[in-house]
Amino acid sequence: MSTAGRQIPVAKPILDEREAEAARRVILSGWVTQGPEVAQFEKEFAAYVGAPYACAVSNCTTALHLALMAVGVKAGDEVITVSHSFIATANAIRYCGATPVFVDIEADGFNIDPDRIAAAISPRTRAIVCVHQLGMPCDLRRIVEIARQYGLKVVEDAACATGSEILWDEQWERIGRPRADIACFSFHPRKVVTTGDGGMLTTQNADYDRSFRLLRQHGMTVPDTVRHNSQSVIFETYDEVGYNYRMTDLQAAIGRVQLQRLPEIIATRRRLAALYTSLLRDIAGVVPPSEPVWARSNWQSYCITLPTHADQIQVMQSMLDNGVSTRRGVMNSHLEAAYRNQDMHRNAGSLARSARAQNRSIMLPLFVQMRDDEVQYVVEALGHALARVPELAS
Ligand SMILES: *Cc1c(COP(=O)(O)O)cnc(C)c1O
Repeated sequence: MSTAGRQIPVAKPILDEREAEAARRVILSGWVTQGPEVAQFEKEFAAYVGAPYACAVSNCTTALHLALMAVGVKAGDEVITVSHSFIATANAIRYCGATPVFVDIEADGFNIDPDRIAAAISPRTRAIVCVHQLGMPCDLRRIVEIARQYGLKVVEDAACATGSEILWDEQWERIGRPRADIACFSFHPRKVVTTGDGGMLTTQNADYDRSFRLLRQHGMTVPDTVRHNSQSVIFETYDEVGYNYRMTDLQAAIGRVQLQRLPEIIATRRRLAALYTSLLRDIAGVVPPSEPVWARSNWQSYCITLPTHADQIQVMQSMLDNGVSTRRGVMNSHLEAAYRNQDMHRNAGSLARSARAQNRSIMLPLFVQMRDDEVQYVVEALGHALARVPELAS
């Protein structure tokens, strides 16, 4: 097949003069970190997802750390989550001195299997971190049910899920609307909207929100904005050890523009994903991602499962040779050296599906600027790559 000098990346942020203008406005304003733009971005994000509180931070990893601290995760506790996620999910648990307890994923998706949660609970379990992996909502209703039954907190790792929706009481709601305890979002360039780096926490709990605001700025009791606007001299105090997890006003101003683009971004991503799913019907053995009837993905990634006979690396290399970048399936934290030591985590049962998802899946290019003929070309390149793979004698 002719590559015609194509180079299709796996992802690409959509940023132009509007974001550049927003950054310029902040630079010339003289207030460049955690000030009025951050406050405005928080307000707009809260309104977008339908949460009473939204608190901006430096990224989603720090958001997860603050969320776990807020719900009271401490050294010696256990937190149930998946190994099959970006390593930040598990690392945030370890930042608290707690132990991640890994549960396998569902048979037909990349999210936690709710049927396996109860068996993973021990007297030390404090919370569940569920992931809306690749933007596909996990079964939050069942997870929250189980958590309430056992008195556990639920933190949503919604890093990939800005704009994803879930059906609740027959209404579509955006992820971040408080059904669990806290949701954490990422604005890394690999996600659907970006501020370079950045994160957000949403909750309906005023105490949690207060805790995020204290700890994101060194535990300082009086924020800069309050001191700046005060007519009388005030001194802040530091009553506990906090962190520097601030978002800058430069990031927030860019985020506000990205948020305005979001409905269009999601509509385009959904259209491209649907095109992939229809074209992939022609390729035997490839399993496209499936959306439960109660979920609407933002399609942060489009991850397919390869036929059993296919060699993942060969397929990816063949596609790359034809100008198409792909990525392997989501990693498994328990297979990394950082988790090799058995006292750094606990596996609750087999993680076979998680490992299989890493080694048998690939993510196809999907970005807003992508044209329909490029989607067609990617599917063609995939078909070509699979045809070259010899069938194993069965
Ligand atoms: C990207 C990602 C994170 C980390 O987000 P950062 O903003 O880069 O810290 C955490 N969890 C998941 C599932 C992610 O995909």
